[in-house]
Amino acid sequence: ASDTRLYQSNDKSPLQIFVRAKKKINDIYGEIEEYVHETTTFINGKPVYIASSIPDLLHRFLLIGKTALHAEAEIVDKAERELFESYVYKVAAIREVLQRDHMKVAFFGRTSNGKSSVINAMLREKILPSGIGHTTNCFCQVEGNDGGEAYLMTEGSAEKLNVVNIKQLANALCQEKLCESSLVRIFWPRERCSLLRDDVVFVDSPGVDVSANLDDWIDNHCLNADVFVLVLNAESTMTRAEKQFFHTVSQKLSKPNIFILNNRWDASANEPECQESVKSQHTERCIDFLTKELKVSNEKEAAERVFFVSARETLQARIEEAKGNPPHMGAIAEGFQIRYFEFQDFERKFEECISQSAVKTKFQQHSSRGKSVSGDMRSMLDNIYERITIFRNLKQDQKNLLTDRIQGTETQMMQVTRDMKQKIHTMVEEVEEKVSKALNE
Ligand code: GDP
Repeated sequence: ASDTRLYQSNDKSPLQIFVRAKKKINDIYGEIEEYVHETTTFINGKPVYIASSIPDLLHRFLLIGKTALHAEAEIVDKAERELFESYVYKVAAIREVLQRDHMKVAFFGRTSNGKSSVINAMLREKILPSGIGHTTNCFCQVEGNDGGEAYLMTEGSAEKLNVVNIKQLANALCQEKLCESSLVRIFWPRERCSLLRDDVVFVDSPGVDVSANLDDWIDNHCLNADVFVLVLNAESTMTRAEKQFFHTVSQKLSKPNIFILNNRWDASANEPECQESVKSQHTERCIDFLTKELKVSNEKEAAERVFFVSARETLQARIEEAKGNPPHMGAIAEGFQIRYFEFQDFERKFEECISQSAVKTKFQQHSSRGKSVSGDMRSMLDNIYERITIFRNLKQDQKNLLTDRIQGTETQMMQVTRDMKQKIHTMVEEVEEKVSKALNE
């Protein structure tokens, strides 16, 4: 029953824009690949000469001369064959990239602001270790795995380390002596989470407060991210380190998609009297940051990118839901429903944004490449066809010429035969005359 529910809600998800576009572009490239293969096989099967038989070839050689034969050798030349073959490899390489393409979201913020908790809440399961002692000290990527098993892989190693439970994963991450900008990939069964099934890949980062190598981080892990989520602690204000990181990101990427989550908003329930004023103060600062400082969006767009949530509470609520209990059983404080709705609102806007952005960045380039490959092949085939037509006409001319010459030869031969006959006749008569004359004498 829970699978059906997941499937139904998944079908309405904006992520389907990406899922459908990916299927479509993969299907189109499947057709292009077939077309390229067929054409290459056809081209490679074409003889260099179009003469149909050896006697035909000899006649041409004798009657028309070498020039025409050389011209025929150019119908499909070596360079063209090589170009067609290069398309086979090009299309195969693009197909491979397309099959691996996914939507990538990267989370940043200070240590303990709740990045891992936000990811877990979105995945509806406690996958990433969180809390004291489980500080993520390297990049952790969670992605879907088609098989039913969960495992992790560290950078530079092909070994699959099995992960049975969260404790084991936490221990594995702690034991690994990893450099802070290295990447641990966690493969989690797709069927356990609709976001993973729809090809969303999550990247958790070490706190922006612990690293001096922001440039390396961005170059190694961020340049292909479709969405960035800045996780702030709603109990404090945005720090210089957090701001600096996004300044660098927006210098390297034009208009990155940034969402800001003011996390731990459940804490505000303890001070209801100043809740609204704190909220509007944070909102104003976040909008100013996106519009005036980073200049990545206008006021209206920015207002749609700032949320007040409680990741821990949302995760607890979802774990209760999975057990068949009402979500509010996971509530931490007063006002759970509003915070829960706000988290869901964030997820929907995030899904819309990431799928649209990924379609553009991942597929636009490939679809124009596919167009240009099929356009180039078409014009090459048109040229070959044109050449074949010219040669066909030439062949017809050669045939006509040959017929004329044969007819001429036949007339000449008849004349020669007639003359010879006459000559022999005269010679015989002369000989007869000479013989009878000699006998009489
Ligand atoms: P990270 O270092 O940014 O990945 O932060 P974690 O996700 O590991 O969270 C650090 C601690 O804060 C953990 O003990 C979480 O349970 C707790 N935490 C995270 N989000 C919230 C929240 O929204 N409300 C409360 N009360 N605690 C939270």
